[in-house]
Amino acid sequence: MSKKLQAIRGMNDILPDKTPLWQRLEKAMAEVFQQYGYSEIRTPLVESTDLFCRSIGEETDIVGKEMYTFEDRNGDSLSLRPEGTAGCVRAGLEHSLFYNQTQRLWYQGPMFRHERPQKGRYRQFHQIGIECFGMLGAEIEAEIILMSYRLWKKLGLEEQFSLEINFLGTSEERAVYKDVLVGYFEQHADELDEDSTRRLQTNPLRILDSKNLGMQSIIEKAPRLADCLGDESKEHFKQLQDYLSDAGVSFTHNSRLVRGVDYYSHTVFEWTTASLGAQGTVCAGGRYDGLIDQLGGKQTPAVGLAMGIERLVLLLEQDQWEAEKPLAYIVYQGDMARRAAIKMVETLRNQLPESCFVLHCGGGSLKSQFKKADKTGAKLALVLGEREVEENRVGIKFLRERIEQQNIPRNELERLLQNND
Ligand code: ATP
Ligand code: MG
Repeated sequence: MSKKLQAIRGMNDILPDKTPLWQRLEKAMAEVFQQYGYSEIRTPLVESTDLFCRSIGEETDIVGKEMYTFEDRNGDSLSLRPEGTAGCVRAGLEHSLFYNQTQRLWYQGPMFRHERPQKGRYRQFHQIGIECFGMLGAEIEAEIILMSYRLWKKLGLEEQFSLEINFLGTSEERAVYKDVLVGYFEQHADELDEDSTRRLQTNPLRILDSKNLGMQSIIEKAPRLADCLGDESKEHFKQLQDYLSDAGVSFTHNSRLVRGVDYYSHTVFEWTTASLGAQGTVCAGGRYDGLIDQLGGKQTPAVGLAMGIERLVLLLEQDQWEAEKPLAYIVYQGDMARRAAIKMVETLRNQLPESCFVLHCGGGSLKSQFKKADKTGAKLALVLGEREVEENRVGIKFLRERIEQQNIPRNELERLLQNND
């Protein structure tokens, strides 16, 4: 027996009962981007492996453990993109989008990470992301945070989210802090778990966001980065906090928030929810002024964020929102009526371009056609039989209300539909 065909583990079909939620989210997002003057960028799903190693960092979980990497037929090492920032920066450099100009960009699409699949964590998942280039200062950081906040409000999710922010300083300040931190953890070397012992050499800041409960007490007593910040950084972080407060957005300062990729500096932030268990981070981002330079471009300030669409959809599933249903389903009986129905429904689509009409297709009795009409959730059934066609009339059956069936002249139909839409 041949093996049953099925999707790759962790790579999901998004079925028609769920796509309305995706579309609702995408529509809300597009409206917000429009309000703030952001432009869309689309980059390939596959890039050279080198790009991700050089940007995200060899020592990160993403590059070290999670990437889908393969050799193509030319022997080049390629990877499915695990996130969107690297490709966006590569495209910007390649097409000179950063030279003497500012950019406010957004993207969306699938990302790939070989993680252990569970609720809210998949191997192909989708992100909506923002990347802004050429702007120093806290105002653009505040802008993207306020933009995401506006989106939560639009989706009715703002009550479920909390915002955590932190300030990682300049690379010089972080270098000083790294030394202090390594010194501290070395004194407690026997209390470090395996992961943290490794990170002590590779990326000591990441020890701070260890989820290991046994490590929490030494992490809590660790020196704080805030104490290594100079005046300029302190002022920058204070401004961000002022802008957020002015806009009425509450936040907490989490001095252990460091984020999982190497390229962040200055501000980092996360929007989290308690409703999704361990997969509670819905949106995360920060400043990455060093990345463009690191990838061979001219030093360019940059700020971005990415949100996980699946996690947002899981939250949207919890409310009572319903996708729009068809206005009418067209049923008919007989050859002449079928022909007239096809013509009529096209005319209706010209007359009421915003409404949805579903034409019955594939034969069957009137009874089974009405059943199908009901299943679509349509408000009305429009009924054509030989008599209706001959008399230029149409039957109207109200599928959701207790209103008597009607039979009206064809030329009154448009008005009746308008009144019912
Ligand atoms: P996590 O800590 O949950 O692994 P992350 O720090 O790896 O998240 P980022 O790389 O910052 O996540 O990606 C931004 C957002 O993309 C996350 O906040 C999350 O909503 C979503 N995301 C990341 N990885 C996955 C995944 N494997 N499946 C579904 N969504 C994901
Ligand atoms: Mg992760």
